[in-house]
Amino acid sequence: MKKFMKEFKEFALKGSMIDLAVGMIIGAAFTAVVNSLVTNLFNPIIALVTGGVDLNELWKIPVGAVLEDGTQATINIGAFISSVINFVIMALVIFMIVKAVNKARTLKKKEEEAAPTTKKCPFCQSEIPIEATRCPHCTSQLSE
Ligand SMILES: [Zn+2]
Repeated sequence: MKKFMKEFKEFALKGSMIDLAVGMIIGAAFTAVVNSLVTNLFNPIIALVTGGVDLNELWKIPVGAVLEDGTQATINIGAFISSVINFVIMALVIFMIVKAVNKARTLKKKEEEAAPTTKKCPFCQSEIPIEATRCPHCTSQLSE
């Protein structure tokens, strides 16, 4: 049992596990935002364009069965299409976020690469660290 707990602790505290957990929590929160976007923004716009049609209520095909709560079982094509639209919107938003993050990363990398780390000593022309106040080659005092 002690060994089991130790193994579990190692597993739970692994960096990748925590990353995964954070990812899942952010993912869940993000899903809520996308759902809200669809219900509160897109659905009203779709209703406006189509003249008050709720996609979730469209193309409900009754099948010969009654659900436990007594309602007619239906195949809900409209609701399914609505889910597909949600997914496409979510994928699009994630794609744009990933693109923006990648761009920001490349920019940061470029900045780091562009920033010089060395300078030339004006006395002996040697390459020396940019922070140096005295040249390590000719020992000249550098102004700055
Ligand atoms: Zn020098």
